[in-house]
Amino acid sequence: MRCRTVLVSGAGVAGPTLAYWLQRYGFRVTVVERTPTLRRGWGGHAVDLFGPAVVVAERMGILPQVLEARTRTELISLTRPGKAPVDVDFTRLAAGISDRHVEIMRGELTAILHDATRNDVEYLFGDSISALTQHEHGVDVTFDHGAPRPFDLVVGADGLHSVVRRLTFGDESRFRRYIGGYLAVYTVPNSLQLDRQMLTYLTPGKLAATYPVRQTGQARAAFLFRRPGELDYDHRDLDRQKRLLREVFADDGWEVPRLLAELDATEDLYFDSISQIVMDRWSAGRITLAGDAGYCPGPAVGGGTSVAIVGAHLLASALREAGGDHVRAFERYERTMREPVARSRVIAPAIMATLIPATRRQVWLMIQAMRVIPRLPTAVQRRLFALQGTPATALAAIALPAEPWDADRPQDT
Ligand SMILES: Cc1cc2nc3c(=O)[nH]c(=O)nc-3n(C[C@H](O)[C@H](O)[C@H](O)COP(=O)(O)OP(=O)(O)OC[C@H]3O[C@@H](n4cnc5c(N)ncnc54)[C@H](O)[C@@H]3O)c2cc1C
Repeated sequence: MRCRTVLVSGAGVAGPTLAYWLQRYGFRVTVVERTPTLRRGWGGHAVDLFGPAVVVAERMGILPQVLEARTRTELISLTRPGKAPVDVDFTRLAAGISDRHVEIMRGELTAILHDATRNDVEYLFGDSISALTQHEHGVDVTFDHGAPRPFDLVVGADGLHSVVRRLTFGDESRFRRYIGGYLAVYTVPNSLQLDRQMLTYLTPGKLAATYPVRQTGQARAAFLFRRPGELDYDHRDLDRQKRLLREVFADDGWEVPRLLAELDATEDLYFDSISQIVMDRWSAGRITLAGDAGYCPGPAVGGGTSVAIVGAHLLASALREAGGDHVRAFERYERTMREPVARSRVIAPAIMATLIPATRRQVWLMIQAMRVIPRLPTAVQRRLFALQGTPATALAAIALPAEPWDADRPQDT
């Protein structure tokens, strides 16, 4: 029997993108999302759409909304202790990385994706899959709250700590590869009245930043730091995470004390290790993974958003092309995604090294490079970035399937 009903776990980036394409290809799609609602301006961080991910957004007809919601960052100020800030023209830097690039708050992007799918896709908010039982004709799904239901296919698009991955492939520790750092992001008031500008402060092994969120009038504080071994904490223990962050940045000046003081009031602290998900395969029977759940390159360092969008589109296309034959489709999806995923995984540690230089000399070198690179002709910048590798180069090898409009018909069963 060809597959027609698909359950997608996770309404982040990969989930609704996949849902959009599947419903366009005639599948009946249900998305289950753990959070009770989508809170547009709440939490989240700035993410990037590069090259093919922008093309996917364009094909979905959401590019005007995405462009309208973009962050509009124009300047990044880099400060190191005791030195005057160096201002970097971010628009020129981004153009050097990719001719198609959009920076957008993750919450805005997920809201746009939800708007684009809400009328054609069933959303179950405030629930989670608790058990998956596969058999010859489908997957029986049990939820934490809702009644059990059968589906033809299940896709885990539920992020770095995916429940579908755990239930299907085993414990996260088998697949998570720590790459040596942590990051924290939370909402703060825009006390500095920042507009189109990100401020950063660099010391060896640490980066603190703050940038405005146009849509809410607030700002975000972001902290990244290196740590050779993993920290010991419970991911539900927010107080411990706040303490850890305060300890790591205790001796730092600049805006750091003020940003840390806001930790007490914040409700949306995101604190996690910079880790990758490394798996030999993403599919088992009628269950597969998309986005961070299957191939997270590391939050903030590997272009996970673009990889998630492109992966979701390719998975849906593979199912369309295989006429719903999941065995053929999953095999094709894995084959197509393997190379960009491998590239993004290699690039991520290099980007982390650039973002969080380890020594004073590296901090100085990074700032000098940032000072010079945007002034170079775009073509020269491209060559330099291609040498280092960026999320854009990771996706460069991807050939998106031919325009899907002709094939935009229900599946034959
Ligand atoms: C602080 C930070 C900064 C980042 N910066 C960048 C950047 O600059 N550029 C970039 O490209 N990427 C960046 N990323 C990475 C980017 O956010 C992810 O790669 C991208 O969101 C992946 O999309 P996804 O849909 O796979 O997963 P997610 O966006 O994580 O979505 C997963 C969804 O699944 C839901 N979920 C989780 N568990 C369950 C469950 N049990 N049941 C149901 N639903 C569940 C979650 O609530 C969420 O809605 C950053 C990430 C972080 C955390």
